[in-house]
Amino acid sequence: MEEKILQEEIRPQNFIHEIIDEELKENGRCYGKTVHTRFPPEPNGYLHIGHVKALCIDFGTAEKYGGVCHLRMDDTNPTKEDVEYVEAIQEDIHWLGYDWGEHFYYASDYFDVMYDLAVGLIKKGLAYVCELTPEQMKENRGDLTHPAVSPYRDRPIEESLDLFARMRAGEFEDGAMTLRAKIDLASGNFNMRDPAIYRINHAHHHRQGDKWCIYPMYDFAHPIEDMMENITHSLCSLEFENHRPLYDWVKNNVDLDADPRQIEFARLGINYTVLSKRKLRKLVEDGIVSGWDDPRMPTLCGLRRRGYTPAAVREFIDRIGVAKVPNTVEYALLEACLRDDLNANATRAMAVLRPLKLTITNYPEDQTETFETENNPLDPEAGTHTLTFSRDLYIEEDDFMEEPVKGYRRLFPGNEVRIKSAYIVKCTGCVKDENGSVTEVLCEYDPDSRGGNAADGRKVRGTIHWADARTAVDAEVRLYSSLFNDPDPDAADKDFMACLAPDSLEVLKGCKLEAAFANATPEQSFQFMRLGYFCADSKDSREGALVFNRSVSLKDGFKK
Ligand code: ATP
Ligand code: MG
Repeated sequence: MEEKILQEEIRPQNFIHEIIDEELKENGRCYGKTVHTRFPPEPNGYLHIGHVKALCIDFGTAEKYGGVCHLRMDDTNPTKEDVEYVEAIQEDIHWLGYDWGEHFYYASDYFDVMYDLAVGLIKKGLAYVCELTPEQMKENRGDLTHPAVSPYRDRPIEESLDLFARMRAGEFEDGAMTLRAKIDLASGNFNMRDPAIYRINHAHHHRQGDKWCIYPMYDFAHPIEDMMENITHSLCSLEFENHRPLYDWVKNNVDLDADPRQIEFARLGINYTVLSKRKLRKLVEDGIVSGWDDPRMPTLCGLRRRGYTPAAVREFIDRIGVAKVPNTVEYALLEACLRDDLNANATRAMAVLRPLKLTITNYPEDQTETFETENNPLDPEAGTHTLTFSRDLYIEEDDFMEEPVKGYRRLFPGNEVRIKSAYIVKCTGCVKDENGSVTEVLCEYDPDSRGGNAADGRKVRGTIHWADARTAVDAEVRLYSSLFNDPDPDAADKDFMACLAPDSLEVLKGCKLEAAFANATPEQSFQFMRLGYFCADSKDSREGALVFNRSVSLKDGFKK
């Protein structure tokens, strides 16, 4: 108990919760209110581990304060959205263990409201139609010592109202004009230099069809979406910090009555991977990976297929904490979280990945026997399963050396090892083919060592795993390593495609798995003894044709 409390205390502080604690006090901004947050993914790709940080902050904050987190598809951008993504996003969030209840929204459902609010701004003299093209607008944005310029800024309100209506009616080409907020052409914050809030885009929208040919810009749309849903805390990543003055300007000037507050947190970066939907999509489209759910992908569906559990993913986010300072986290920390979870929960099994025959020459040819073995020594309630044993076994190729190197404690002529959970055997030699390759190892067992310990108490230092050749089932095993061999493929100055590692997938066929798990179910996790954690592949594995993914190796590469 004491240890548990101690662990909680060393968890990183969450500065957002400190702010909310203050706001909920008497006289605070949110006194007596229910906390409403939102997670606003753009449905143009699958969620990745970076999104999980935002998800855990949005849903976790609502959970902590007894509030609600809305799931809102941020589909104001008409060109790239897809129903496939909308459904996948929902599935991934549910898998993580979060639920939005009734609060599922589409930003595009507010297009009519947004249009009316924009008209309202024009009427108040707070917005105008500007006929500078995007290029001209860029040329006229000024610099630190010169203000931006627009010759259309002081055009009559009536004229802007007329042009805006005609923009909507489809009279103009893409880029011919924009609606701009009239704020401050000399602002030190360039986002406030009369930003465009509507642009013309003759594009089909996945839900609105061809109803619109003008679309609101993010900075205008987002605060309105938040106000429409009575969001109290709009939590987003740090790149929006410079946009907050504009968020507040929209909030204070459109005719809606709500008071959301934007708070920014650091974006999550992880080494040896890229966290950008655009880049991940390129990996899929170029066939570098088998799909968004390829087990090497940092997407939620990829991690899941790799064998990650919701608990491990959430624990990872918990350990890195919520801070305002950007940081890149080691991939090894994510792996450490998975290892901790699977160590406590995965079933222990024996599998031989690169099989070599081992024959126990003094064991009766027609005899077999069985051993009961624990499914998980750390969990007494996990039960046991039955191992079968005979004179014909498989061992791992590298567990035998005809001429051992110094310090080698496994099988070599004259040496004794323990066959895990079964008997002690002594190597007597080997059989080779015409090329000199070892095809079979020969040994004799000690009948008085059933269970693995010698009756006379002599010490045997090496223990190896094995599979009974008469009952073992065949399996394919996929070994993964990092997709990238550069620690920072996501860096702005790097071509991430040039950072790809040449062989991040190794497929082993004809591996031997102990018979007790011939019916392993998709996503079932195992610790293959001495090898690592593996899970049955959710797409390709079936009884009779088992396929396992290596989730993570046993070794802990993360230095605490
Ligand atoms: P991407 O560059 O991968 O497309 P995005 O920010 O454009 O990311 P959105 O779908 O707009 O993707 O993101 C939804 C939410 O997730 C946003 O609030 C965004 O701030 C947050 N988010 C995205 N990536 C990260 C990250 N690496 N760390 C923390 N939050 C993130
Ligand atoms: Mg985005």
